[in-house]
Amino acid sequence: MASKVRLYVDQPLGKGQTVLLERDQAHYLFGVMRLAVGTVLSLFNGRDGEWDVEVAEAGKRGGALTCLAQTRPLQMPPDLWLCFAPIKKARTDFIVEKAAEMGAARILPVLTDFTNSERVRVDRLQAHAVEAAEQCGGTYVPEVAEPVKLDRLLADWPAGRQLMFCDEALVGAGQVLRDAGPGPWAILIGPEGGFSEAERKRLRAQPFAHPVSLGPRILRADTAAVAALTLWQQALGDW
Ligand code: SAM
Repeated sequence: MASKVRLYVDQPLGKGQTVLLERDQAHYLFGVMRLAVGTVLSLFNGRDGEWDVEVAEAGKRGGALTCLAQTRPLQMPPDLWLCFAPIKKARTDFIVEKAAEMGAARILPVLTDFTNSERVRVDRLQAHAVEAAEQCGGTYVPEVAEPVKLDRLLADWPAGRQLMFCDEALVGAGQVLRDAGPGPWAILIGPEGGFSEAERKRLRAQPFAHPVSLGPRILRADTAAVAALTLWQQALGDW
């Protein structure tokens, strides 16, 4: 019997491979979704694509699944990072979830002068990215990086990567992106308090940075993240 259940596991997937379940996964599959031995469900691990697997053992504290066949190859997103200043917890969760759904390859919390929530639980944000991938059918899960100060991020900036610097002080994004062209990119979204003048000056001095506007109204940071991801994907991405 086939089920629509789709689960992320951090274990290798391959023909005949056995996947041993952790307690919480067993609880979800056999306690909540009440899957029985012989049921077929989908697994992905962010590396080996999506696989049909069959329940071989079902228990309260564990279980085992056997890989039958790959149903979809790994589909990598474009080489796009979303860098954002953490805001209130629920809205930061929203930004991570939308970044995963909308095709970011990496998610970097950035601490700027006016960032108001320094404490970032990377493990919780990573779980949100996994849940978003499970829900949207993605076979790739973006990594949520440890928070980094803006100065450090710019000092270590990788050669060849462009930056869509969403500056609430500026003009239209589409043409800027098209002019700069495809390749590795990153989007930068500031905190509720915006960028400081010192940051704005530092960012504009970077040869790889392209300051863009997201329209005439000031958007909330979570709205801005979704808007910037949409603009980038439409101009240069895989939409
Ligand atoms: N406190 C700032 C102000 O009133 O100017 C608003 C900051 S906004 C809440 C958070 C971030 O979203 C900004 O730092 C910027 O990265 C992005 N953002 C919001 N609206 C934007 C716009 N119209 N153009 C470009 N970026 C925008």
